[in-house]
Amino acid sequence: MRTFNELGLCTELLQAIEEQGYEHPMPVQEAVIPFLLNKEESADLVALAQTGTGKTAAYGLPILELIKSFSKSEKILPTVVILSPTRELCIQISDDMEGFSKYLPNLTILPVYGGANIEPQIRALKAGVDIIVATPGRLVDLMKRGAANLSQIRYVVLDEADEMLSMGFQEEVNAILEGVPQDHRTLLFSATMSQEIERIAQNYLKEKREIQVGSRNEGAEHVNHIYYMVHAKDKYLALKRLVDFYPRIYAIIFCRTRMETQEVADNLIRDGYNADALHGDLSQQQRDLTMQKFRKHRTQLLVATDVAARGLDVDDLTHVINYGMPDDVENYTHRSGRTGRAGKKGTSLCIINLREKSRIRLVEKAIQKQFEKGTLPEPREICNKQLYHVIDDIERVEVDEEEIAPFMDEVQKRWAWLDKEDLIKRVLSREFGRFLQYYANAPEIEEAPSQPSQGEGKGSRRKGSHTPEEGYTRLFLNVGKIDKMYAREIMGLINNNVKGDKVEIGRIDLMKSFAFVEVRDADADRVIKAMKHGVTIKGRSVVVDRSEPAGRGKASPSPSKGGEKKGKRGKAPKSSREERGYAAPRGKKFEKADWMQFLHPEEGWARRRPKKK
Ligand code: AMP
Repeated sequence: MRTFNELGLCTELLQAIEEQGYEHPMPVQEAVIPFLLNKEESADLVALAQTGTGKTAAYGLPILELIKSFSKSEKILPTVVILSPTRELCIQISDDMEGFSKYLPNLTILPVYGGANIEPQIRALKAGVDIIVATPGRLVDLMKRGAANLSQIRYVVLDEADEMLSMGFQEEVNAILEGVPQDHRTLLFSATMSQEIERIAQNYLKEKREIQVGSRNEGAEHVNHIYYMVHAKDKYLALKRLVDFYPRIYAIIFCRTRMETQEVADNLIRDGYNADALHGDLSQQQRDLTMQKFRKHRTQLLVATDVAARGLDVDDLTHVINYGMPDDVENYTHRSGRTGRAGKKGTSLCIINLREKSRIRLVEKAIQKQFEKGTLPEPREICNKQLYHVIDDIERVEVDEEEIAPFMDEVQKRWAWLDKEDLIKRVLSREFGRFLQYYANAPEIEEAPSQPSQGEGKGSRRKGSHTPEEGYTRLFLNVGKIDKMYAREIMGLINNNVKGDKVEIGRIDLMKSFAFVEVRDADADRVIKAMKHGVTIKGRSVVVDRSEPAGRGKASPSPSKGGEKKGKRGKAPKSSREERGYAAPRGKKFEKADWMQFLHPEEGWARRRPKKK
């Protein structure tokens, strides 16, 4: 691993970054800093790096190194413009640059952004600055007013360029790039490489070098992606279960609309969670306050729209929760890239309904990472987790013997009638009674089926629940009798489209609008892949996929099982959770008597008590 010393930075910068606590350069810094400091190089730069990978220092440090020696005329004209999509990022970049340049004398950095009084910004520009950090709209405004003179610009940085374009700043970015001298260098940083970014690079970058940290358009490396499929009506209940299962969760919950954002936040607040809403219907002042509270961890759950959360930069989110999938892959990349930052592990949870499943597949393809299919935690598991959380918190309380000594006599006198067990019960009821009460009567959440099951007759339901023969994989096809696709047609469809050896086809179950086909395990991937390439029946794209287990545990991969009503589940085999005693037996609610056993000393409490010294 290289050190900052080896990258060619001066002692003033080295001292400042040491004070920031940076020990080793992050990959993007290791790649970009020597490239920019190399005197032989004059090429522009396209750096593909996720947010949170250390890109501010990657361009900020070498730029400071390069401009520190520029001779100063009496009235300083800026030599660097850093463009940022949001005012929050603008302020953050400016703060970081201030920190890096702490020991470089006489360098002025000015953040200019919309939504703030323009007059002080004009005055500051008139007084002279070296580096302008700006949101595009405000900079164009300052240029038009003659306050921002860009005639001496040597470096233009486009930070989070993809965000800037998706927020509609295309014209402003063009105007700025056209308003700077020809011989400047452009450094473009983006998390994803969209067509618009390619276009900007094509139009405005001269000879360019592309540096990539991680692979192109890849989701953050340290992020796990898990999806939970529920019926649309159960989304909120599922959200509560997930949040309750992670007592130390610190997360952004992304919703698709402002209304939904407010609704989810209101419901969470009503249900006793430490949550807040962030969306475009709130004033800038309200949004600032909300973000500030969240950054300081005074809010645990922030429910936000994609656009409103753009300016928010936090490094230590434990989870990102997708309350439904976003419309495009890039938004998902940005959402999930907010966790798993600065080398930490992160998790992106998606609560989706059946219709959103295809979007999961699209994202998987784009980020080249597989999503895991999650099963919602059962009430007992949740209460167990919460219990340990409470115990943990109580164990961590530091007792200052001296401070409490004067009160001990009085407390002991008043509680003389309470024995130890009573006391424990009261502490527990107070600390996690909310969960116990809720989960004692919590509505059940039926897992949504992986494939459509509604509308098929009884006979087809029986057929659909078949378990494939050993050595065979059961595939789902979105064509059925209604499309006049019978066994012969389906066999023909497969063998006409799959190249190479003939596919051996086993059992075929025909339904009204879809079918199941069993093929040899070794052929399954070949068939799925071949059918992905634009095969159509009467103008409709044919979709072939594995028929996944729909129920819990090792249920049949049929569409019908997952779609069964809860009441019918009694006959199903016990799930592994039931076996382990986590889940309430099917059909039986998780009752108070069940959770009261948590108080039994053999159940964890006694085991976890710290040993007496
Ligand atoms: P950025 O991508 O610039 O927003 O940086 C993400 C986070 O990583 C910020 O909190 C930085 O302070 C931090 N960071 C940047 N470079 C380093 C480094 N070399 N070592 C440790 N932390 C860093």
